[in-house]
Amino acid sequence: MSDYEPRCSEHPKEVAGWRCTGCGKHLCGECTARLLNTFFCAHCEAPATQLTEPRVEKPFSVWLTDALMFPLRAWPALLGATIAILVAGSAEGGAFAWIGRVVVPVVAVGFGLAMLTMGARRDTTALGRSMLRVVATTAILWIPGLLHLWLVGALTGELGALFVALVVAYLPVVLVSSATDVGLASTLNPFAVFDWLWRIKARYVVYFTSASVLLGAGFAASRGEWQLSSMGFVNDGARIAASLALLAMGARLLGTLAHVHGDAFDWGRPESYVDPLYPDLQARAARKSLIRDADKMRSDGNGDNSLISPEQQEARAAREIVECIRADRMRRALKLYLERDTWADDRFDDRELMALGTAANMAKNYDVAVNLLERAAEAKGRAGARALYSLARIHAGALDDAARARELYQRVIDDYPESDVARLARTELEK
Ligand SMILES: [Zn+2]
Ligand SMILES: [Zn+2]
Repeated sequence: MSDYEPRCSEHPKEVAGWRCTGCGKHLCGECTARLLNTFFCAHCEAPATQLTEPRVEKPFSVWLTDALMFPLRAWPALLGATIAILVAGSAEGGAFAWIGRVVVPVVAVGFGLAMLTMGARRDTTALGRSMLRVVATTAILWIPGLLHLWLVGALTGELGALFVALVVAYLPVVLVSSATDVGLASTLNPFAVFDWLWRIKARYVVYFTSASVLLGAGFAASRGEWQLSSMGFVNDGARIAASLALLAMGARLLGTLAHVHGDAFDWGRPESYVDPLYPDLQARAARKSLIRDADKMRSDGNGDNSLISPEQQEARAAREIVECIRADRMRRALKLYLERDTWADDRFDDRELMALGTAANMAKNYDVAVNLLERAAEAKGRAGARALYSLARIHAGALDDAARARELYQRVIDDYPESDVARLARTELEK
């Protein structure tokens, strides 16, 4: 882990795992909400980005520990144990002895291929094919050289050793690169492969040596004669389980090459090769705020509709509508108004009725608009003139009732001669 340890802007004692794109704050788990795989700031509700660190910055010991612990995970352990029991049970001669000879190499290779894909690619069928292709073409590339050295008797000399070392170093790199989906031409080009090798040179040596030790130990364990108990079956099972575990560790370690250094193999961008800075940090704000809201409703005494009277329910809904009108959220106000079939006559004052009527008119809900505006006009309050004028406009326009419109314009002029809308009504009548 790097020295970079950001702290929450609100809770300086907590480490921050996110940064808000809205208010720019560093956020801890309590300050971050999660919806599926998107994170949100609990303070301003803008999306938050997870803080990450490049995988290359983690020390090798982290990856080595991961590889050593790998066989203890649920599915590798279960698979390893099942195979060990199967193979040990079939080892004592008998008709099923071939299981051991077939299953162990298949599992070792399968483990290796699966581990090479770790984090690099998801499409495993295409991956298997591309790896086979890479192995075949690599063999075509190197076998003539090996054959030549063998024929001239130089395979055991210094030149032969160098050549074999080159092949041995080359093969894992092309396997890893095939897991990262670089083109076949690149994997066949020794210059490209040794260029990748060069980019991760010291790291490659460390990974390759450690993985080789583990793989070698796995093969040694499978051929060893060590005794754990006097029962042959138990000894065979333990030997097979140990060799599978060591093989899996080595394969997993080679797989981390693609997982950590895939961008060095010309695949993807460095931004893809990152891990969360604090993988164990949970975004907990969403659940908290829900509990807080529920608590607030309960303490207000009106959280549960079944416990309060219909009058109280209506009063509560009306309060919400008035709040929406004040906040100029007219569509929401109208929606809430339409959710109830009936309202007490004196529930809204003339200005509120006028506002709702205008919203209904805008929503082309003319029946509701006329009803609301008529009630606003009847109240004969400050909004009366405007309510009458709006009613007249609706009849003249949407409802196509010119006679009723003229009648209403006349009422505006008679009842409110000094108002702004009276002048407009006169203009309309003169048309
Ligand atoms: Zn924010
Ligand atoms: Zn916080």
